[in-house]
Amino acid sequence: GPEGKLQLVQRHVRAFPDFPKKGILFRDICPILKSPAALTAVTDLFEEHVRSHQLQVDLIVACAGLDARGFLFGPLLAQRLGVGFVLVRKKGKLPGATVSVAYDLEYGSAEVEIQEDAVAPGQKVLIIDDLLATGERQQSGTELQQKVEQADIQGCMVVIELRDLKGADRLKPHNIFSLLQY
Ligand code: AMP
Repeated sequence: GPEGKLQLVQRHVRAFPDFPKKGILFRDICPILKSPAALTAVTDLFEEHVRSHQLQVDLIVACAGLDARGFLFGPLLAQRLGVGFVLVRKKGKLPGATVSVAYDLEYGSAEVEIQEDAVAPGQKVLIIDDLLATGERQQSGTELQQKVEQADIQGCMVVIELRDLKGADRLKPHNIFSLLQY
C-alpha cells in the first residue's frame, strides 16, 4: 500500500551535513535511483496523487539550475500519465527561441530558460522536482510558464520538502505535493 511505498522511499534518502557548503544538510536521493523498487514507489506515489486528485495534466515540466534532479523523476511520471515532458535548463543550453528568468538558490544562483514553443497556450502543466527548499527554483519554473504562454499550472510535486525554508509559502497560490517532509 501507499504507506509501505512511502517507507521504502524514506529508507532510500540519506542526509549529508555541510554539503555542498557549511550549514546545508544535503538530502541525497541517489539511493532511490539505485533501487528499482524505491524508484517505482516514487513514480507510483506521484501517479496516485495525480489520479486521486483528478489533476488534469498535459505536460510535466522539470527545472534545472545548479541541479537537475527533477529530470530523473519527470519523464517516468510523464510516461505513466501518457503526457509529454519539458525541460527548463540553465541559460545557453537549449537551441532555438527561448524565454529566460534569473533566480537564487539555497546555495547559489542561476538563470534558466525554456524553449518558446515548449508549452501551447492553456496547456495544463505539472512542475516536478526532487526537493523543495526555498522554492526559488520552482518559482522560476512557474514564472517561465507564465512568460512562455498562458500555461495553466496545476501544481508542483517533489520527493522531499524542507518545511523550515517555507518554499510552499513562496509558491502560493500553487499547490505543493511532497512525499517526504523534513
Ligand atoms: P530551492 O530553489 O531552494 O527550492 O532549491 C532548488 C534545488 O536545490 C532543489 O530542488 C534541490 O535539487 C537543491 N537543493 C536545495 N537544498 C537542498 C538540500 N538541502 N539537499 C539536497 N538538495 C537541495
